Amino acid sequence: MDKERIRQQKNAWAKKKYHENIEASRAKVREANRLSKRRWRDANPGLSGERSWKFTLKKFGMTIEDYNRILFLQCGVCAICKRVETATTKDGIIRRLNIDHDNATGRVRGLLCRACNVGIGQLKHELGILGSAIMYLERAPYEYGTL
Ligand SMILES: [Zn+2]
Repeated sequence: MDKERIRQQKNAWAKKKYHENIEASRAKVREANRLSKRRWRDANPGLSGERSWKFTLKKFGMTIEDYNRILFLQCGVCAICKRVETATTKDGIIRRLNIDHDNATGRVRGLLCRACNVGIGQLKHELGILGSAIMYLERAPYEYGTL
């Protein structure tokens, strides 16, 4: 084997090892973070939800009063389906309505139940797609083979 070929093989081996190690290393960090969060949650029951709630409000530049004002204006129900939230946390507690915002501007649009929030997210928040979905539901044939 010539020197160049040996060098190429060494490089390929080193590259392979690097990628194997980086994945293993990332997996270890992820696992350590997961365990750390779990320990904190177990040591502070009830606080983790409160902590993430405060973080969420901060992320949207809102106060609890802002949230409650919107909730009041929406009569306590989802801005889309006009129903109360039914989704629950891991502890079985009814979730708060999600804060929906415009990704482009960052402005808060309103509060949505989890189902509606996920629903419009799945439809990419695009009016064209959402409109198309409405038209589809209004006009779709109900029998197979009539398309
Ligand atoms: Zn809803």
